[in-house]
Amino acid sequence: MHATVNVPETFEFAVPTRIVFKVGGVEGIADEARALGGTRALVVSEKGVIAAGIVDPIVRLLKDAGLEPGMFQGFSPNPKDIECFEGLKAAQEHNADILIGVGGGSSMDMAKAIGILQTNGGHPVDYAGSGLITKPIPPLIVVPTTSGTGSEVTFCAVVTDTKNRVKVNIVSPYLAPTVALMDPTLTRTVPAGITAATGMDAFCHAFESYTCTLANPITEGLALYAMELIGRYLKLAVADGDDLEARTKLQLASTIAGAAFTNSDCCAAHCMGESIGGMVDMPHGVACAIFLPHVFEFNMGVDPAKHAKVGEVLGLDLRDLSPEEGARKTREHILRWEEDLGIPHLKDIPGVNPLEFDAAAQGAVENLAAGSQPRTTGHADYKRMFEEAYEA
Ligand code: NAD
Repeated sequence: MHATVNVPETFEFAVPTRIVFKVGGVEGIADEARALGGTRALVVSEKGVIAAGIVDPIVRLLKDAGLEPGMFQGFSPNPKDIECFEGLKAAQEHNADILIGVGGGSSMDMAKAIGILQTNGGHPVDYAGSGLITKPIPPLIVVPTTSGTGSEVTFCAVVTDTKNRVKVNIVSPYLAPTVALMDPTLTRTVPAGITAATGMDAFCHAFESYTCTLANPITEGLALYAMELIGRYLKLAVADGDDLEARTKLQLASTIAGAAFTNSDCCAAHCMGESIGGMVDMPHGVACAIFLPHVFEFNMGVDPAKHAKVGEVLGLDLRDLSPEEGARKTREHILRWEEDLGIPHLKDIPGVNPLEFDAAAQGAVENLAAGSQPRTTGHADYKRMFEEAYEA
Protein backbone atom coordinates (compact mmCIF):
# COMPACT_ATOMS: atom_id res chain seq x y z
CA MET A 1 0.00 0.00 0.00
CA HIS A 2 1.53 3.34 -1.02
CA ALA A 3 0.58 5.68 1.79
CA THR A 4 1.58 9.30 1.46
CA VAL A 5 4.17 10.73 3.85
CA ASN A 6 3.07 13.84 5.68
CA VAL A 7 5.68 16.58 5.32
CA PRO A 8 4.53 19.67 7.17
CA GLU A 9 5.95 23.00 6.02
CA THR A 10 7.99 23.08 9.21
CA PHE A 11 8.47 20.65 12.07
CA GLU A 12 10.80 19.85 14.94
CA PHE A 13 11.80 16.56 16.50
CA ALA A 14 13.50 16.05 19.87
CA VAL A 15 13.92 13.34 22.47
CA PRO A 16 15.93 15.16 25.13
CA THR A 17 15.63 12.29 27.61
CA ARG A 18 18.66 10.04 27.92
CA ILE A 19 17.27 6.54 27.44
CA VAL A 20 19.19 3.79 29.20
CA PHE A 21 17.87 0.39 28.21
CA LYS A 22 19.11 -2.80 29.86
CA VAL A 23 17.47 -6.00 31.03
CA GLY A 24 18.14 -5.81 34.78
CA GLY A 25 19.38 -2.23 34.34
CA VAL A 26 17.47 -0.85 37.33
CA GLU A 27 20.53 -1.89 39.35
CA GLY A 28 22.25 1.21 37.99
CA ILE A 29 19.77 3.67 39.46
CA ALA A 30 22.00 5.06 42.21
CA ASP A 31 24.83 5.77 39.75
CA GLU A 32 22.39 7.62 37.51
CA ALA A 33 21.05 9.67 40.43
CA ARG A 34 24.53 10.54 41.62
CA ALA A 35 25.62 11.51 38.11
CA LEU A 36 22.80 14.07 38.10
CA GLY A 37 24.07 15.59 41.33
CA GLY A 38 21.32 14.10 43.46
CA THR A 39 21.93 13.79 47.18
CA ARG A 40 18.37 13.47 48.53
CA ALA A 41 16.03 11.49 46.31
CA LEU A 42 12.23 11.44 46.50
CA VAL A 43 10.87 8.19 45.12
CA VAL A 44 7.36 8.66 43.72
CA SER A 45 5.37 5.49 43.25
CA GLU A 46 1.83 4.35 43.91
CA LYS A 47 0.59 1.43 45.96
CA GLY A 48 0.12 -1.16 43.22
CA VAL A 49 3.71 -0.78 42.06
CA ILE A 50 4.97 -0.99 45.64
CA ALA A 51 2.86 -4.12 46.23
CA ALA A 52 4.44 -5.70 43.15
CA GLY A 53 7.78 -5.59 45.03
CA ILE A 54 9.44 -3.19 42.60
CA VAL A 55 10.10 -0.21 44.84
CA ASP A 56 11.76 -1.66 47.95
CA PRO A 57 14.89 -2.86 46.08
CA ILE A 58 15.19 0.56 44.42
CA VAL A 59 14.96 2.34 47.77
CA ARG A 60 17.59 -0.05 49.14
CA LEU A 61 19.96 0.64 46.23
CA LEU A 62 19.58 4.40 46.79
CA LYS A 63 20.06 4.07 50.54
CA ASP A 64 23.18 1.92 50.12
CA ALA A 65 24.60 4.64 47.86
CA GLY A 66 23.92 7.31 50.51
CA LEU A 67 21.17 9.04 48.55
CA GLU A 68 18.81 9.44 51.54
CA PRO A 69 15.67 8.25 49.73
CA GLY A 70 12.29 9.59 50.83
CA MET A 71 9.01 8.19 49.58
CA PHE A 72 5.73 9.60 48.26
CA GLN A 73 2.93 7.13 47.61
CA GLY A 74 -0.18 9.12 48.56
CA PHE A 75 -1.88 9.16 45.16
CA SER A 76 -4.02 6.97 42.97
CA PRO A 77 -3.86 5.77 39.36
CA ASN A 78 -4.96 8.64 37.07
CA PRO A 79 -3.45 11.13 39.56
CA LYS A 80 -5.64 13.97 40.81
CA ASP A 81 -4.62 17.62 41.01
CA ILE A 82 -5.20 17.76 44.78
CA GLU A 83 -2.88 14.80 45.35
CA CYS A 84 -0.02 16.75 43.75
CA PHE A 85 0.06 19.09 46.76
CA GLU A 86 0.68 16.15 49.09
CA GLY A 87 3.54 15.20 46.81
CA LEU A 88 4.93 18.73 46.94
CA LYS A 89 4.75 18.62 50.72
CA ALA A 90 6.66 15.32 50.76
CA ALA A 91 9.34 16.79 48.46
CA GLN A 92 9.69 19.92 50.61
CA GLU A 93 9.78 18.04 53.91
CA HIS A 94 12.42 15.70 52.51
CA ASN A 95 14.36 18.57 50.96
CA ALA A 96 14.52 16.52 47.76
CA ASP A 97 16.95 17.55 45.05
CA ILE A 98 16.13 14.73 42.63
CA LEU A 99 12.83 13.03 41.76
CA ILE A 100 12.54 9.37 40.85
CA GLY A 101 9.21 8.27 39.36
CA VAL A 102 8.79 4.50 39.47
CA GLY A 103 5.68 3.00 37.92
CA GLY A 104 3.25 3.48 35.09
CA GLY A 105 2.16 6.80 33.64
CA SER A 106 0.42 7.70 36.90
CA SER A 107 3.63 7.55 38.94
CA MET A 108 5.82 9.15 36.28
CA ASP A 109 3.30 11.97 35.78
CA MET A 110 2.95 12.53 39.53
CA ALA A 111 6.74 12.92 39.73
CA LYS A 112 6.56 15.45 36.88
CA ALA A 113 3.71 17.33 38.59
CA ILE A 114 5.63 17.51 41.87
CA GLY A 115 8.59 18.90 39.95
CA ILE A 116 6.38 21.56 38.35
CA LEU A 117 5.08 22.71 41.75
CA GLN A 118 8.57 22.61 43.31
CA THR A 119 10.02 25.11 40.87
CA ASN A 120 7.01 26.97 39.43
CA GLY A 121 4.55 27.03 42.35
CA GLY A 122 0.80 27.46 41.82
CA HIS A 123 -1.79 24.80 41.00
CA PRO A 124 -1.23 21.99 38.44
CA VAL A 125 -4.28 23.11 36.45
CA ASP A 126 -2.66 26.56 36.02
CA TYR A 127 -0.28 24.86 33.58
CA ALA A 128 -2.89 22.92 31.57
CA GLY A 129 -2.04 23.57 27.96
CA SER A 130 1.19 23.95 26.08
CA GLY A 131 4.25 25.97 27.05
CA LEU A 132 2.95 27.51 30.29
CA ILE A 133 5.75 26.23 32.55
CA THR A 134 8.45 28.86 32.85
CA LYS A 135 11.11 27.13 34.97
CA PRO A 136 12.84 23.75 34.58
CA ILE A 137 11.82 21.05 37.03
CA PRO A 138 14.46 19.30 39.22
CA PRO A 139 16.39 16.38 37.72
CA LEU A 140 13.96 13.55 37.08
CA ILE A 141 14.72 9.85 36.62
CA VAL A 142 11.82 7.67 35.57
CA VAL A 143 11.58 3.90 35.71
CA PRO A 144 8.55 2.76 33.68
CA THR A 145 6.86 -0.39 34.95
CA THR A 146 4.04 -0.56 32.40
CA SER A 147 4.39 -0.49 28.61
CA GLY A 148 1.87 2.10 27.54
CA THR A 149 2.06 5.81 28.15
CA GLY A 150 5.54 6.66 26.89
CA SER A 151 5.68 9.26 29.68
CA GLU A 152 9.32 8.23 30.12
CA VAL A 153 10.14 10.37 27.06
CA THR A 154 7.17 12.69 26.58
CA PHE A 155 6.93 16.43 27.25
CA CYS A 156 3.66 15.80 28.98
CA ALA A 157 2.04 15.14 32.35
CA VAL A 158 -1.62 14.21 32.66
CA VAL A 159 -3.54 15.04 35.84
CA THR A 160 -7.23 15.04 36.64
CA ASP A 161 -8.77 18.46 37.19
CA THR A 162 -11.12 17.34 39.95
CA LYS A 163 -13.16 20.54 39.92
CA ASN A 164 -14.07 20.26 36.25
CA ARG A 165 -13.92 16.44 36.13
CA VAL A 166 -11.59 16.40 33.15
CA LYS A 167 -8.07 15.13 32.54
CA VAL A 168 -5.74 17.92 31.54
CA ASN A 169 -2.50 17.74 29.61
CA ILE A 170 0.40 19.82 30.81
CA VAL A 171 2.86 20.08 27.94
CA SER A 172 6.34 21.58 28.10
CA PRO A 173 9.82 20.52 26.97
CA TYR A 174 10.78 20.91 30.66
CA LEU A 175 8.73 17.76 31.38
CA ALA A 176 10.91 15.40 29.37
CA PRO A 177 12.55 13.26 32.08
CA THR A 178 16.31 13.65 32.41
CA VAL A 179 16.89 9.90 32.33
CA ALA A 180 14.58 7.00 31.49
CA LEU A 181 15.89 3.81 33.01
CA MET A 182 14.20 1.07 31.06
CA ASP A 183 14.29 -2.42 32.47
CA PRO A 184 11.60 -4.66 30.95
CA THR A 185 11.91 -7.20 33.77
CA LEU A 186 9.95 -4.71 35.89
CA THR A 187 6.88 -5.13 33.66
CA ARG A 188 6.58 -8.88 34.20
CA THR A 189 4.23 -8.44 37.17
CA VAL A 190 1.69 -6.32 35.26
CA PRO A 191 -1.61 -8.28 35.28
CA ALA A 192 -3.00 -9.41 31.90
CA GLY A 193 -5.86 -6.87 31.81
CA ILE A 194 -3.50 -3.95 32.46
CA THR A 195 -1.00 -5.35 29.96
CA ALA A 196 -3.74 -5.32 27.31
CA ALA A 197 -4.96 -1.83 28.24
CA THR A 198 -1.51 -0.25 28.38
CA GLY A 199 -0.44 -1.99 25.17
CA MET A 200 -3.48 -0.56 23.40
CA ASP A 201 -2.69 2.88 24.85
CA ALA A 202 0.72 2.65 23.17
CA PHE A 203 -0.92 1.44 19.97
CA CYS A 204 -3.35 4.39 20.06
CA HIS A 205 -0.40 6.77 20.54
CA ALA A 206 1.31 5.33 17.48
CA PHE A 207 -1.86 5.15 15.38
CA GLU A 208 -2.96 8.67 16.25
CA SER A 209 0.54 10.07 15.83
CA TYR A 210 0.60 8.45 12.35
CA THR A 211 -2.80 9.73 11.26
CA CYS A 212 -2.96 13.17 12.90
CA THR A 213 -2.31 16.37 10.98
CA LEU A 214 1.00 17.02 12.78
CA ALA A 215 2.62 13.75 11.67
CA ASN A 216 6.05 14.24 10.13
CA PRO A 217 8.35 11.78 8.34
CA ILE A 218 10.29 10.94 11.52
CA THR A 219 7.26 10.39 13.74
CA GLU A 220 5.57 8.37 10.98
CA GLY A 221 8.51 5.98 10.79
CA LEU A 222 8.58 5.56 14.55
CA ALA A 223 4.81 5.12 14.74
CA LEU A 224 4.72 2.42 12.07
CA TYR A 225 7.51 0.49 13.80
CA ALA A 226 5.79 0.79 17.19
CA MET A 227 2.50 -0.49 15.73
CA GLU A 228 4.30 -3.43 14.12
CA LEU A 229 5.93 -4.41 17.43
CA ILE A 230 2.69 -4.08 19.39
CA GLY A 231 0.80 -6.08 16.75
CA ARG A 232 3.36 -8.85 17.01
CA TYR A 233 3.93 -9.00 20.78
CA LEU A 234 0.91 -7.71 22.72
CA LYS A 235 -1.13 -10.92 22.61
CA LEU A 236 1.96 -12.90 23.64
CA ALA A 237 2.56 -10.72 26.72
CA VAL A 238 -1.12 -10.88 27.70
CA ALA A 239 -1.07 -14.68 27.40
CA ASP A 240 2.20 -15.06 29.33
CA GLY A 241 3.39 -12.18 31.48
CA ASP A 242 6.76 -13.88 31.94
CA ASP A 243 7.53 -13.82 28.22
CA LEU A 244 10.52 -11.51 28.51
CA GLU A 245 10.95 -11.12 24.76
CA ALA A 246 7.37 -9.90 24.41
CA ARG A 247 7.71 -7.66 27.47
CA THR A 248 10.93 -6.19 26.08
CA LYS A 249 9.50 -5.47 22.63
CA LEU A 250 6.38 -3.89 24.16
CA GLN A 251 8.38 -1.64 26.43
CA LEU A 252 10.47 -0.46 23.49
CA ALA A 253 7.33 0.04 21.39
CA SER A 254 5.66 2.17 24.05
CA THR A 255 8.74 4.40 24.32
CA ILE A 256 9.01 4.66 20.53
CA ALA A 257 5.29 5.53 20.31
CA GLY A 258 5.80 8.13 23.06
CA ALA A 259 8.66 9.72 21.09
CA ALA A 260 6.39 9.78 18.04
CA PHE A 261 3.30 11.35 19.58
CA THR A 262 5.13 13.88 21.73
CA ASN A 263 6.72 15.19 18.52
CA SER A 264 3.43 15.19 16.59
CA ASP A 265 0.17 14.73 18.50
CA CYS A 266 -2.69 12.38 19.19
CA CYS A 267 -6.22 12.89 17.93
CA ALA A 268 -9.85 11.96 18.61
CA ALA A 269 -9.49 8.64 20.49
CA HIS A 270 -7.33 10.43 23.06
CA CYS A 271 -9.64 13.44 23.18
CA MET A 272 -12.55 11.13 23.94
CA GLY A 273 -10.62 8.83 26.28
CA GLU A 274 -9.29 11.72 28.35
CA SER A 275 -12.66 13.42 28.45
CA ILE A 276 -14.57 10.41 29.77
CA GLY A 277 -11.55 9.43 31.87
CA GLY A 278 -11.96 12.67 33.83
CA MET A 279 -15.58 11.79 34.58
CA VAL A 280 -15.18 8.09 35.31
CA ASP A 281 -12.06 6.61 36.90
CA MET A 282 -11.14 3.95 34.36
CA PRO A 283 -7.84 2.60 32.96
CA HIS A 284 -6.60 5.18 30.46
CA GLY A 285 -5.63 2.54 27.90
CA VAL A 286 -9.12 1.02 28.01
CA ALA A 287 -10.66 4.46 27.51
CA CYS A 288 -8.60 5.10 24.37
CA ALA A 289 -8.93 1.55 22.98
CA ILE A 290 -12.73 1.65 23.23
CA PHE A 291 -12.93 4.67 20.94
CA LEU A 292 -10.19 3.65 18.51
CA PRO A 293 -12.42 1.65 16.07
CA HIS A 294 -14.99 4.46 16.00
CA VAL A 295 -12.39 7.13 15.35
CA PHE A 296 -10.79 4.86 12.72
CA GLU A 297 -14.15 4.61 10.93
CA PHE A 298 -14.76 8.35 11.19
CA ASN A 299 -11.30 9.32 9.89
CA MET A 300 -10.42 6.63 7.36
CA GLY A 301 -12.08 8.31 4.38
CA VAL A 302 -9.62 11.21 4.67
CA ASP A 303 -6.68 8.96 3.79
CA PRO A 304 -7.69 5.33 3.19
CA ALA A 305 -4.19 4.31 2.03
CA LYS A 306 -2.66 5.51 5.31
CA HIS A 307 -5.27 3.64 7.33
CA ALA A 308 -4.64 0.51 5.25
CA LYS A 309 -0.88 0.87 5.82
CA VAL A 310 -1.63 0.30 9.50
CA GLY A 311 -3.15 -3.05 8.51
CA GLU A 312 0.00 -3.95 6.60
CA VAL A 313 2.25 -3.38 9.60
CA LEU A 314 -0.18 -5.47 11.64
CA GLY A 315 0.57 -8.32 9.24
CA LEU A 316 -2.54 -8.28 7.02
CA ASP A 317 -2.21 -9.22 3.37
CA LEU A 318 -4.00 -6.36 1.61
CA ARG A 319 -2.17 -6.59 -1.73
CA ASP A 320 -5.19 -7.15 -3.97
CA LEU A 321 -7.45 -4.64 -2.25
CA SER A 322 -8.22 -1.00 -2.93
CA PRO A 323 -7.07 1.43 -0.20
CA GLU A 324 -10.71 1.74 0.93
CA GLU A 325 -11.13 -2.05 1.21
CA GLY A 326 -7.75 -2.30 2.95
CA ALA A 327 -8.72 0.35 5.48
CA ARG A 328 -12.03 -1.40 6.19
CA LYS A 329 -10.29 -4.74 6.66
CA THR A 330 -7.80 -3.12 9.02
CA ARG A 331 -10.61 -1.70 11.13
CA GLU A 332 -12.29 -5.12 11.34
CA HIS A 333 -8.95 -6.63 12.39
CA ILE A 334 -8.53 -4.05 15.18
CA LEU A 335 -12.07 -4.79 16.43
CA ARG A 336 -11.36 -8.54 16.57
CA TRP A 337 -7.94 -7.91 18.15
CA GLU A 338 -9.48 -5.83 20.94
CA GLU A 339 -12.07 -8.56 21.58
CA ASP A 340 -9.30 -11.17 21.79
CA LEU A 341 -7.36 -8.97 24.21
CA GLY A 342 -10.43 -8.66 26.44
CA ILE A 343 -10.80 -4.87 26.13
CA PRO A 344 -14.13 -4.16 27.84
CA HIS A 345 -17.11 -2.46 26.19
CA LEU A 346 -18.07 1.08 27.18
CA LYS A 347 -21.47 0.06 28.55
CA ASP A 348 -19.79 -2.43 30.91
CA ILE A 349 -17.60 0.20 32.60
CA PRO A 350 -19.08 1.10 36.01
CA GLY A 351 -20.10 4.76 36.24
CA VAL A 352 -20.45 5.46 32.52
CA ASN A 353 -23.71 7.35 32.01
CA PRO A 354 -25.00 8.09 28.49
CA LEU A 355 -26.74 11.17 29.90
CA GLU A 356 -23.26 12.64 30.33
CA PHE A 357 -22.21 12.15 26.69
CA ASP A 358 -23.08 15.76 25.93
CA ALA A 359 -20.54 16.94 28.52
CA ALA A 360 -18.07 14.24 27.45
CA ALA A 361 -18.31 15.47 23.85
CA GLN A 362 -17.65 19.01 25.03
CA GLY A 363 -14.55 17.81 26.92
CA ALA A 364 -13.32 16.10 23.74
CA VAL A 365 -13.85 19.27 21.66
CA GLU A 366 -11.80 21.22 24.21
CA ASN A 367 -8.97 18.66 24.44
CA LEU A 368 -5.52 19.91 23.48
CA ALA A 369 -5.26 17.29 20.71
CA ALA A 370 -8.61 18.13 19.08
CA GLY A 371 -6.97 20.48 16.60
CA SER A 372 -4.86 17.66 15.18
CA GLN A 373 -7.81 15.56 14.06
CA PRO A 374 -7.41 14.82 10.33
CA ARG A 375 -11.12 15.51 9.80
CA THR A 376 -13.12 18.43 11.16
CA THR A 377 -14.86 17.02 14.21
CA GLY A 378 -17.55 18.92 16.05
CA HIS A 379 -19.51 18.36 19.23
CA ALA A 380 -22.20 16.37 17.40
CA ASP A 381 -19.58 14.08 15.83
CA TYR A 382 -17.98 13.34 19.20
CA LYS A 383 -21.36 12.76 20.81
CA ARG A 384 -22.33 10.34 18.06
CA MET A 385 -19.05 8.42 18.49
CA PHE A 386 -19.66 8.19 22.26
CA GLU A 387 -23.14 6.82 21.53
CA GLU A 388 -21.87 4.38 18.90
CA ALA A 389 -19.22 3.11 21.32
CA TYR A 390 -21.89 2.66 24.01
CA GLU A 391 -24.11 0.67 21.62
CA ALA A 392 -21.25 -1.52 20.34
P1 NAD B 1 -0.97 3.36 35.85
O1 NAD B 1 0.33 3.98 36.11
O2 NAD B 1 -2.20 4.06 36.30
O3 NAD B 1 -0.97 1.89 36.44
C1 NAD B 1 -2.10 1.06 36.25
C2 NAD B 1 -2.14 0.00 37.33
O4 NAD B 1 -1.09 -0.90 37.13
C3 NAD B 1 -1.98 0.57 38.73
O5 NAD B 1 -2.89 -0.08 39.59
C4 NAD B 1 -0.55 0.21 39.09
O6 NAD B 1 -0.39 0.03 40.46
C5 NAD B 1 -0.36 -1.08 38.35
N1 NAD B 1 1.02 -1.38 37.97
C6 NAD B 1 1.90 -0.56 37.34
N2 NAD B 1 3.06 -1.21 37.12
C7 NAD B 1 2.91 -2.46 37.63
C8 NAD B 1 3.75 -3.60 37.69
N3 NAD B 1 4.97 -3.63 37.13
N4 NAD B 1 3.27 -4.71 38.29
C9 NAD B 1 2.01 -4.74 38.81
N5 NAD B 1 1.16 -3.69 38.77
C10 NAD B 1 1.61 -2.57 38.18
O7 NAD B 1 -1.19 3.01 34.30
P2 NAD B 1 -0.59 3.64 32.98
O8 NAD B 1 -1.53 3.24 31.92
O9 NAD B 1 0.83 3.32 32.82
O10 NAD B 1 -0.69 5.23 33.22
C11 NAD B 1 -1.92 5.89 33.09
C12 NAD B 1 -1.78 7.34 33.36
O11 NAD B 1 -0.82 7.94 32.47
C13 NAD B 1 -3.09 8.07 33.10
O12 NAD B 1 -3.29 9.09 34.03
C14 NAD B 1 -2.90 8.64 31.71
O13 NAD B 1 -3.76 9.71 31.43
C15 NAD B 1 -1.45 9.03 31.76
N6 NAD B 1 -0.77 9.18 30.46
C16 NAD B 1 0.31 10.00 30.45
C17 NAD B 1 1.00 10.21 29.27
C18 NAD B 1 2.18 11.13 29.24
O14 NAD B 1 2.78 11.32 28.20
N7 NAD B 1 2.54 11.72 30.34
C19 NAD B 1 0.59 9.56 28.09
C20 NAD B 1 -0.50 8.71 28.16
C21 NAD B 1 -1.17 8.53 29.35
